[in-house]
Amino acid sequence: MTTKAKTSEHRIDHFFSMPAARADRWRDIVGASRAWSSGRSNKAAVEAAFAELGPIEEFHAFPGPELMGALRDKLQGDNAVGFTELVRRVSAAIVTRDFKYDAAEWGTADEFADSPADVLPPTLGGRETRRPYFEMLMVAPGATTHAVYQIAEMRKLRRPEDAFIYEMVPVESFEDAICAAIINPYIAAVTIFEGFTYTSRHPAPVLRSVLANLVPEEARREDADLSLLLANSLKRLRPELDVYLLSDRRVESLAGDPRAASIRRVLYAIEEPLELHLSVLEGIQRRFETPFFDNLKKYARRPISTFHALPIARGKSVFKSDWIRDMGEFYGINLFLAESSATTGGLDSLLEPTGNIKRSQEMAARAFGADHAFFVTNGTSTSNKMVHQAIVAPGDIVILDRNCHKSHHYGLVLAGGQPLYVDAFPMTEYSMYGAVPLASVKRALLDLKAEGRLDRVKMVDLTNCTFDGHIYNTRRVMEECLAIKPDLVFLWDEAWFGFARFSPILRPRTAMGAASAIGAWIHDPASIKAYEKQQDELGSDPSADKLLETRLIPDPRKVRVRVYQTHSTHKSMSALRQGSMVLVKDVDFHTVESQFHEAVFTHASTSPNQQLIGSLDVARRQMELEGYGLVLNAIEISLSIRREINSHPLISKYFKVLGADGMVPAEYRNSGFVDFLAPGTTWAEQVRSMHEDEFCLDPTRMTLVCGTAGFDGTEFKALLANTYDIQLNKTSRNSVLLQSNINNTRSDIAQLLRVLLEICNAIETRLAHGGSGEQDAFAARVKSLMTDVPDLPNFSHFHEAFRQDAGRSTPEGDMRTAFYGAYDAAGCEYVTLHGEECDRRLREGPEMVSANFVIPYPPGFPIMVPGQVITQETIEFMRKLDVKEIHGYEKARGLKLLRPDVISAKSKR
Ligand SMILES: *Cc1c(COP(=O)(O)O)cnc(C)c1O
Repeated sequence: MTTKAKTSEHRIDHFFSMPAARADRWRDIVGASRAWSSGRSNKAAVEAAFAELGPIEEFHAFPGPELMGALRDKLQGDNAVGFTELVRRVSAAIVTRDFKYDAAEWGTADEFADSPADVLPPTLGGRETRRPYFEMLMVAPGATTHAVYQIAEMRKLRRPEDAFIYEMVPVESFEDAICAAIINPYIAAVTIFEGFTYTSRHPAPVLRSVLANLVPEEARREDADLSLLLANSLKRLRPELDVYLLSDRRVESLAGDPRAASIRRVLYAIEEPLELHLSVLEGIQRRFETPFFDNLKKYARRPISTFHALPIARGKSVFKSDWIRDMGEFYGINLFLAESSATTGGLDSLLEPTGNIKRSQEMAARAFGADHAFFVTNGTSTSNKMVHQAIVAPGDIVILDRNCHKSHHYGLVLAGGQPLYVDAFPMTEYSMYGAVPLASVKRALLDLKAEGRLDRVKMVDLTNCTFDGHIYNTRRVMEECLAIKPDLVFLWDEAWFGFARFSPILRPRTAMGAASAIGAWIHDPASIKAYEKQQDELGSDPSADKLLETRLIPDPRKVRVRVYQTHSTHKSMSALRQGSMVLVKDVDFHTVESQFHEAVFTHASTSPNQQLIGSLDVARRQMELEGYGLVLNAIEISLSIRREINSHPLISKYFKVLGADGMVPAEYRNSGFVDFLAPGTTWAEQVRSMHEDEFCLDPTRMTLVCGTAGFDGTEFKALLANTYDIQLNKTSRNSVLLQSNINNTRSDIAQLLRVLLEICNAIETRLAHGGSGEQDAFAARVKSLMTDVPDLPNFSHFHEAFRQDAGRSTPEGDMRTAFYGAYDAAGCEYVTLHGEECDRRLREGPEMVSANFVIPYPPGFPIMVPGQVITQETIEFMRKLDVKEIHGYEKARGLKLLRPDVISAKSKR
């Protein structure tokens, strides 16, 4: 690595892989100082490594100025043994995170024995107190000069009854504050003292280029109100942070200033510091509180006799039994004590919440940036059906991706909505689909408009991100659609993407992030001007082609922001399986609220599981308090896996993780972004791509190509699971999907690499020993997997019999009638997939019309829907399909079809 590259890696704005890089750097110093103290090398190497730590340490409370000073003294005083001992301890504390709990770690003494008692209070009443730990950023003029004193002053405020414990991170400029908030995930609160400067003492070119977009120009002016600007910028990066402002002039006027809305409390700078301390703890408590879960724990502790139907409640039927006691022993008593079918006794009703479930949902709405949040205990499969039923009336048209999860298609059958399928771009070489180009959605809307049927379309329904990680430009999609129909409703299925809220890079691309941006845009006077300017340019009657190629601006006076998001909390956060949420940001929600409740009553179980609700509550708490760091870690791990696999000399010979360039065709990457790991890629480019490009790749979803190692996806998945205990869930013909999430650690990466290496070694040995026969067979296998791939069938069309109410040029259809056609056994027939009859029907007709959904797993979307005409491509795809599980298809009987005579009778009616 060149010196230049190395220097840049230690700049304060090298944001990728920060926590791991930091731990590595401390390990380097330990290595160098060991060599020094044992006389194997001189001090210069240690000094160099120490300097490498750089200013980034200033953004962390630990080791802090005192310990850093002690280290520097020992280094300067040539105390090799003392330095080595202390650096080893500090490094270990950073890696293990022990400093969060162990007061001894903060001591500067050469011996650990005398721990400074004021750092953490002694255990309370003999109980182990692992009080949650966080850090508070303090932005103040001269903060770093007086750091040791300030830190000591704040520590003095600690009381044994405090529920949490925190340390201070003092910085003295706007830029340093932003860096600290980005780099240090432990920061949970920020206190701003007026009078700090804008520019950091440290070089930060990348940060400056990013801030140029993030922070208004005025921040760099002499008379800028830096405090308010900083508060707002921090909230944009990390909305969960509590920001406090200490001012000595205009506390009252600030309280009424709308720009101060992002500040939790304004205090007089000279006021009791205890007031600040208590406010900070109370702010954390607000996020820590889990109304439903807290009450559930209380409920479980009370002696309660139950006479309702749920024998298992309180565990008596389990623990008293000779036969099923092991169930009780396995799950533990609390599961049963916390189970009830009552909605009284402080337990709320999920179907009609008025108490703590209501409050928990309100807190979830706050955390996820929605107006309303609804807990769902039957998975996002149910959440989606609820939204469909609440919004869509029979006959309404819904524009949706044919590759949407099956719950959307079934939801439409139930609601009687007419699907207008739009196709995702195909990624034929990997047998998977991407996402739906905006042009296709606009085309559908414009076609409907041309026929005067725009009023029929109710909703646009897309998956963000897709299983394989394609992220939409949610804001652009909604803006352009709203330019054509200003009251469209959007349903974004973010089953996998709930965590994205807690990443500043991903958040703008979530449904809620985009909805709030559009909401703010509507109220900006510049928006009307932009709209009117575009209207002038477009003229009075622009052609559809013109509208397609223009990036349309909606009329801010007409737009209704009506956005629904569903996510499987259990898929990306710490909720129990089936825990899901519906998030709502709909200015017209009051008009559909009663329908929405009807939909909840239709689909939700009347016996929701208490533990599931509790876990949703807790998952929210976790994300609000440590989500930022957890998501940062998941992204960091995925980047590391990508880098290690693709650069390993042997592994990369057989395997590859597809980058953004492999997953998103260049035409959808207008910013020119190539990949996270492409040489020279900067954070600023990444941010620009996330801002501008039509599609981005979620780095945590890694498509690992395994066909080049001679494995098909299913086979490779089984190998990993059965031989190596590595689980993953999605495969394609020649790839598997790896996914990093908030539970992964660096040792998971090591394990994965070890396994891949072992597999590669086995291939090498086999090829070396097997001679040319083996090598030819391998090459043929790879070719078959990688090049002889089936074409992916687009949605063909609905049969005319199911299009009597449809437009001439638009492909929607009455799927519900076709679906119920299958209930009449006499009206159906079967044609075997491989039989002569199938080919004859394709050649000569009559057309084959599917009677039901046919959904192969993987990929898990319907390749046939009820009423769809089956074409040659679909048959060919089915014939090549090498998966075992195909829902809706019985191999022995064949394809279930609606009989031609029944269909033609329908057409004639
Ligand atoms: C998993 C999934 C669902 C269904 O969610 P469950 O919580 O499993 O019911 C819906 N949509 C998408 C895109 C999914 O991946």
